Formats: sequence, structure tokens, C-alpha cells
Amino acid sequence: IVEMKRLNKFYGSHHVLKDIDLSVSRGEVVVVLGASGSGKSTLIRCVNGLEMYQNGSLVVDGYPMPVEEDRLLGGEKELVAIRKGVGMVFQQFNLFPHKTVTENITIAPMRVRKKSKEEAEATALKLLDRVGLKAHADKYPAQLSGGQQQRVAIARSLAMEPGLMLFDEPTSALDPEMIGEVLDVIRELAADGMTMMIVTHEMGFARDVADRIVYIDQGSILEISKPDTFFDNPTNERARTFLARVL
Ligand code: ATP
Ligand code: MG
Repeated sequence: IVEMKRLNKFYGSHHVLKDIDLSVSRGEVVVVLGASGSGKSTLIRCVNGLEMYQNGSLVVDGYPMPVEEDRLLGGEKELVAIRKGVGMVFQQFNLFPHKTVTENITIAPMRVRKKSKEEAEATALKLLDRVGLKAHADKYPAQLSGGQQQRVAIARSLAMEPGLMLFDEPTSALDPEMIGEVLDVIRELAADGMTMMIVTHEMGFARDVADRIVYIDQGSILEISKPDTFFDNPTNERARTFLARVL
């Protein structure tokens, strides 16, 4: 569902992604690990077009993501199609503060997918049940804990029926006692077969949930391994050093 070939990205003269080759199959969970500033966020943000890349190729769900030059020349049609099918959850939940939980979840399906209010609300309730928040449907974000807000943010993404979910450090802004409830929701999505690319600092979770670990350093992928191999016996020297620091 994602295919990157020799993808390169620059911020000005700063080369942040270098010849990235990575494909993700449907149903697969890929966890991206690496030190701060290595390019993890940039990598996954390319997949839904939040960042532009300069050369190479990226195909998402059959649509070629236009390179920067073509995007600036108006090649935005594919981008719109790609965005509809890719959900993203960030460190910050970014819920609309003046809308209820249900309204936060129904707004995009009604506007973008032209669902009726009734249909969107029925789906929202199902999703809230799935993330354990059915009782909070009519509350406002400020009335919820951080972990609950992040679960609403996940439900909101799921309401668009994405074929692929991107997570960028979804638990980094949470108090420790709330991390588990959010990771559990993501684990359940994995068990249900959702395709996901996840950036996280939670190593135990990474090992559990990942089908493959991608290790990135200074913009290059240095290792792609099964989690057991990566954590017990990484082939790359820098990956070893990284693990020694974070484990
Ligand atoms: P972290 O673990 O801290 O989130 P990361 O692996 O997600 O780090 P990125 O945010 O992808 O790293 O950043 C990769 C590189 O690109 C870094 O050197 C960063 O300074 C640079 N960078 C990121 N965003 C921009 C930007 N908008 N303009 C210029 N440089 C940027
Ligand atoms: Mg980041």
C-alpha cells in the first residue's frame, strides 16, 4: 500500500531523507525508530503529503504522490485522493475545543465523505465504543484526560475509514499512566489488520506490535528487521548503539 523508491527530501540544502527505499504491505505494521532529528517524522509525513519530497517516487494506495515540482505546478489531484485514505495521529491531539467528542468525530465524514448526520453519528458511537469512550460522547475535549483525548483523536481518524494509519509519537505528550490505554487501542487496531506506520519511543510496544522495525539514522535507513532480530541482535552498529541508549 506504500512504496517508496530512492526518495530524497531536502530542507534547503539540508538533506533530510536519503535514498529511502521502503514498502509497506496491506495489513502490515511498521515501526520507525531512530534518534531525535534522524528524519522519522519527515518520513511518515511524506506519506500523506504533509511534507513534499524532491526526487524518487512514492506510491500510496495506488496513487503516485507528486514530487514537489509537480505539486507546485498543480498536481494536487492525487494528493487529495491519498489524504482521504490516510489517517494521521500526532503527539498533540488537536481536537476542536468548542465541539463535543461526537462532533469532533463526525465533522470530516459529513463534510468530506458527504455522510448524513445520522450515519456519521452512528459510526462515531461505534468507534467511541471501540476506544472505550462511549460514555463521553457529549463531553468537550477539555473535560477529558490526555489519554482520553488521544483516543478520541484516533477514533476521529478511523471515522474516515483510512486504509493506512500514521502515528507520530502518539503517547509522547501523555502522562505515564495514560500511555498504556492509548497503546492498547493501537494494539487492537493491529490485531484487526489495520496497516500502520508508527513512530514511537515505547520500545516494548514497538517490539510487540511491529511486523518490521525500520531504523533510520541521519536520514538513511540503516536496518529493516523483524522486531526480535532488531532488539536482540541488530546487524547495524549504529542501531546497537541506539538500542544501548534507549533500552
Ligand atoms: P524527533 O525524534 O525529535 O521527533 P525526527 O526523527 O522526527 O526527530 P524530523 O523532525 O523528521 O526528525 O527532522 C529531521 C531533520 O529535519 C532534523 O535535522 C530537523 O532539524 C530537520 N527539519 C525538520 N523540520 C524542518 C523544517 N520545517 N525546516 C527545516 N528543517 C527541518
Ligand atoms: Mg519527530
